[in-house]
Amino acid sequence: APEIITIDGPAGSGKTTVARMLARHLGWRLLESGSLYRALTWLALSEAPELLKERGPRLMKFLRERLPDLRFEASEKGLSLFFREKPLREELRLPEVEARVSELAAVPEVRELVGEILRELAREGRVVAEGRDMGTVVFPEAQAKFFLTASDEVRAERRLRDWRAQGLSVTREEVLASLKARDQKDSTRKTAPLTIPQGALVIDTSEKSPEEVLKEILSRLP
Ligand code: C5P
Repeated sequence: APEIITIDGPAGSGKTTVARMLARHLGWRLLESGSLYRALTWLALSEAPELLKERGPRLMKFLRERLPDLRFEASEKGLSLFFREKPLREELRLPEVEARVSELAAVPEVRELVGEILRELAREGRVVAEGRDMGTVVFPEAQAKFFLTASDEVRAERRLRDWRAQGLSVTREEVLASLKARDQKDSTRKTAPLTIPQGALVIDTSEKSPEEVLKEILSRLP
């Protein structure tokens, strides 16, 4: 069976940092599933914002048609995305993308599409998959599952640091409001809402360094 470890949790729970450290430690590839939702959101926002609002069959037709323009490359360092061979980086972290991504991620057909891409990327195994539904929907067969959480304040503080590091001027209140709006949408949507996978180990990272969380994960691996 392919070797798969899943790490799920809300925004700012520290899953991206820890998943990256774990992948590097094991020498496995890292699948950051959120990047795929972000890339599709960025694409729709740039080329067909009216379809994003609609969230109907025309949106899916547009996304499926544009898919050949996107390329995904998974390595130990993470998932690299390219649009017509141009790397997508800062684009995926834009506040506009953050504000709209949960809308797109609530569309069942979009989730199916992203699931297909992820399973294809994980075909050969030895992957760390990080996101919201990795252990529940996309890789229910994973050998080890983790769910990270942290207090709202800690999560907002972490995201604030990310955004400021990118030179964006945002207030703590704005960050907190954006996180909470996203959490709300991610945990109440009908398809694959954010929940703790059965058999997952829950780790509260509020008071822990990434190194401590990594150690805990490593000690629990089969
Ligand atoms: O993890 P990240 O912050 O990059 O995820 C961005 C958004 O993508 C989430 O807020 C959520 O709406 C969506 N997402 C999802 N399922 C995943 C990963 C991300 O719905 N497995």
